[in-house]
Amino acid sequence: MWMSNKSLNITVAPSPITELEAEVLKKKQIRLLVKRDDLLQPAGDRRFCGNKVRKLQYNLIAARQTGYHQLLTFGGAYSNHIAAVARAGKLYGFRTIGVIRGELHEPLNPTLDRATADGMQLHYLDRATFLQKHQPEIRQQLLELYGKSYILPEGGTNELAMQGCAELAGEIEQQLGRLPDYLAVACGTGGTMAGLIRGCTGKCQVLGVSALKGTWMGEEITGLLGDDHNYSNWQVFTQYHFGGYARFPEELKEFTRRFKEEYGIQPDPIYTSKLFFGILDQINQGFFPSGASIVMVHTGGLQGVNDTIML
Ligand SMILES: *Cc1c(COP(=O)(O)O)cnc(C)c1O
Repeated sequence: MWMSNKSLNITVAPSPITELEAEVLKKKQIRLLVKRDDLLQPAGDRRFCGNKVRKLQYNLIAARQTGYHQLLTFGGAYSNHIAAVARAGKLYGFRTIGVIRGELHEPLNPTLDRATADGMQLHYLDRATFLQKHQPEIRQQLLELYGKSYILPEGGTNELAMQGCAELAGEIEQQLGRLPDYLAVACGTGGTMAGLIRGCTGKCQVLGVSALKGTWMGEEITGLLGDDHNYSNWQVFTQYHFGGYARFPEELKEFTRRFKEEYGIQPDPIYTSKLFFGILDQINQGFFPSGASIVMVHTGGLQGVNDTIML
C-alpha cells in the first residue's frame, strides 16, 4: 500500500511578493514588501504551507530516496511543525509518529486533533524525558517501539531544512532582479533564518524577530551556521516576543487586526504578527536609512488561525 516509487516530486513554485503602501513608508522613503510564502502550497493543500514546505521538501525527498516509509518527529502540543509533518505524511504517503512534550490532554487541541486525523500516531513524553529526546537511549526506545523511521528534529531544523530555506533568497533575488537591502523573518528554532543567511551569501542584511522569550536566539543561529559563522550580515531582535512563545496579548491582537485591514494580509498569531510588528516598530524608530528596501517573509502558519485564536 506504500508507494514503492523511489522519487518524490515536490515542486516549489515561487510565491508572490507584495509591496505595502503606507504614509509612513512614503515619508521615510522606505520600500516594504512581503514575500508570500503563506501562499506556498505545492500540493494545493492549505495545511501544507509556508516555511514548513521549504524545511520539509528535501527531507521528504531524502526519506523516500533512502527507502523510509515512516517519519518520526518531536514537538509541543501547538507545534506547526507537528501539523505539517502529519499533513505531509498524508499527502506523500509516509506513516508519521509525533512525539509530543507533556501529557495527553483530552479533548485534543486543534493541532493534535488534526494531526491525528491526518494519520499521525502520537506518543507523549513527560517534560523531563522530552528534554533528553536526542539521547541515544531514548531514540532507541522510540525506534524499538515504532520501527524504522526517518527522524526529524524538533521544529524540523536540520541541514536539509536549511538548504530549502536558503533557496528562498535566490528566489527573491530572481523575482526582484536583486536582493533587497534587508530580509526579515520570524524565528522559532532559527533554522529558516540560518538558511536565509546562507542563501544571501553576504549580499544583504538578514534580520530576525524572535517569537520566543530570551536573548539566546543569536547564539542558536551562530550554532546552526556552523562553518558559515563568519557571516556577520545579520542580527536578531529579541524584544518582540510579547511574553513568549504562543503568547498573543490584546495589543498584538489589535495590531494583527489592523495589519489585516490596512494591507489585506493575514498574519499568523505566533510568528509573523510579531515579525511585522517588530519591523514596523523599527521603521518608526528610524533603524532603517531612507531609501532602504525590506522584504519580510510571511512564513505561513495560518493553518490553525481560525480555530485556535479569535482574531
Ligand atoms: C515554524 C514557523 C516559524 C519558525 O521557523 P524556524 O525555522 O523554526 O525558526 C516561523 N513562522 C511560521 C509561520 C512557522 O510555522
